[in-house]
Amino acid sequence: MAHLFQVGVGSGGMPVLDLLCRDSRISHVSIVEPDVYKEHNVERHLFPLSAVGKSKAVLAEQWLRERRPDLHVRLLPCDLLDRERQAEIEEAVRACDLGICAADNEPAKFHFDALMRRHGKPWTLGEVLSGGIGGFVHWFVPGGPCYGCVAGHLQRPTSADYVAVEKPQSPDYSQPGGVVHEVRLPASKAAIQAIASLHALVTLDLLTAREKPQSYDPGFTTLLLTLQRVPDVFEEAFRPYRFRVARSPQCLICQGGRPSTAQTAEELDVALDQALARLGNE
Ligand SMILES: [Zn+2]
Repeated sequence: MAHLFQVGVGSGGMPVLDLLCRDSRISHVSIVEPDVYKEHNVERHLFPLSAVGKSKAVLAEQWLRERRPDLHVRLLPCDLLDRERQAEIEEAVRACDLGICAADNEPAKFHFDALMRRHGKPWTLGEVLSGGIGGFVHWFVPGGPCYGCVAGHLQRPTSADYVAVEKPQSPDYSQPGGVVHEVRLPASKAAIQAIASLHALVTLDLLTAREKPQSYDPGFTTLLLTLQRVPDVFEEAFRPYRFRVARSPQCLICQGGRPSTAQTAEELDVALDQALARLGNE
């Protein structure tokens, strides 16, 4: 019996959810997803062309019911940051055993992180790099490094840096610390599926360890798998890089877990708002 809380059932999130729900230990799933299925989604998604125009959350539920009729599915067809729905979202997080983040934007990832830390839940995050050149899988447990620690370690760009430029200066993902410019290019379904499979494997591994999440240690906190050789970015295709990310005293979200760190929900909200402001969101 395990309850998952997943944000995002787009092209990256849906294959993760599908893989996870084949595991009979999972009995409940809460899904947050506001989007409607569009024609341009068909190329990379599990859902058929005939599903265009329907809610992705409803389609995900249908997909799961046809494979796991015993699974309890709860839908929250809203944006994770929707202020009006925060009480429902908090309730679903409180009830879950594990969070799965397949959100495609930084504010949602930071918000997800805040929710998980506030309720003391372990969670995982999968990210496919632009163009499908590789991808990341990260895992988080209460008391461990937060998403802010990881983003800081990997020198993630702020949203202001996410400006499309004609000739992109590619980041060297395997050498965190350099200047990063990122352009969003679509990834192939095969690349998305490869990272989704890794994301699901790490999530199932963490689920097995959920009684003692602090003892979970696959040898990395962040796994990067390259899928293509890209000059100045990745020397080799199909090469894993395992990053151990420690809690950082410089982290503006968790401050490395110092005793003075924001602990109440209100203080965490303030820290989160400050982080989002730095991202240029508000
Ligand atoms: Zn942190």
